[in-house]
Amino acid sequence: MKNFVYFKGEIVEEEQARVPLATHALQYGTGVFDSVRGYWLEQKKAMLLLKPLEHFERLVNSAKILGLAVKETPAEMTEILKKLVKKNALESDIYVRPFIYQAATKVAPIISPDFEPSLAMYMISLGDYLATDKGLKGKVSSWRRIDDTMIPPRAKVCGAYVNSSLARQEAAMCGADEAIFLNQDGSVCEGSGENIFIVRAGQLITPPVSANILEGVTRSLVMEVAGRERIGVCERCIDRSELYIADEVFLTGTACQVAYFSEIDGRQIGDGRLGPITKKLQKIFFDAVHGRLPEYVKWLVQV
Ligand code: PMP
Repeated sequence: MKNFVYFKGEIVEEEQARVPLATHALQYGTGVFDSVRGYWLEQKKAMLLLKPLEHFERLVNSAKILGLAVKETPAEMTEILKKLVKKNALESDIYVRPFIYQAATKVAPIISPDFEPSLAMYMISLGDYLATDKGLKGKVSSWRRIDDTMIPPRAKVCGAYVNSSLARQEAAMCGADEAIFLNQDGSVCEGSGENIFIVRAGQLITPPVSANILEGVTRSLVMEVAGRERIGVCERCIDRSELYIADEVFLTGTACQVAYFSEIDGRQIGDGRLGPITKKLQKIFFDAVHGRLPEYVKWLVQV
């Protein structure tokens, strides 16, 4: 089946979306990206997009942080995505990757409107990215998270994901499923592509947005659910050793959804199984994104 993408203002076949080797973003990482999940409802033959507008707003904010100007607004991007979903007609859960990149073939590490900031979008079928039905092994990375004074992690900058890739590589070499970053201050920060929560004494604790984390959309959805369920949420710095003694530790993200750790750095987390609070939040999250809970239907855009 043909795969369609959005490229240079049009929906075209993937084979037609080709960039020159000297593309600025390819050489220097001068682009920003985001991701949107779509959940396929087989019975209704409908795709439910999870918070597309919020993801496009963050994409535009990432671009703003870099000083990349782009013509399309978040609302227009949502319309483009809806068209692309219809055109591809994938009957599975999907993962969409929109990005804004410097398309010019120029040499010099510069960000400038002359370097042709351009929006592109593609999608793939995607089930679980990390296991959600069994506990993950985590490894606190020896690589520290980039800092707002270097490449702001609040923006999803293409080149900045070398930092994530190094951490993920190290985790894999150590037999772990995912890395956990400490920031420059030595506090727990986030995963290579996920936000992190711990549970202590029935309360959720997660690093604040000023701790060099990405302001995750799933993070805020899980906090919204916790609020409704009367589970306390505290945003504060977390020490590495708190991970080891937490009752539960889980990750949130568009790709990973809600996934939990059974082990971090060789220490068992809680009893090593899915803890009651993560279990509750994970169940509500999956019910919500599949449109089964009226109170959360507002999260979804049906195509
Ligand atoms: N942190 C990082 C570094 C990420 O790349 C992601 C994935 N976008 C997240 C956190 C989770 O953010 P979201 O829930 O918006 O996908």
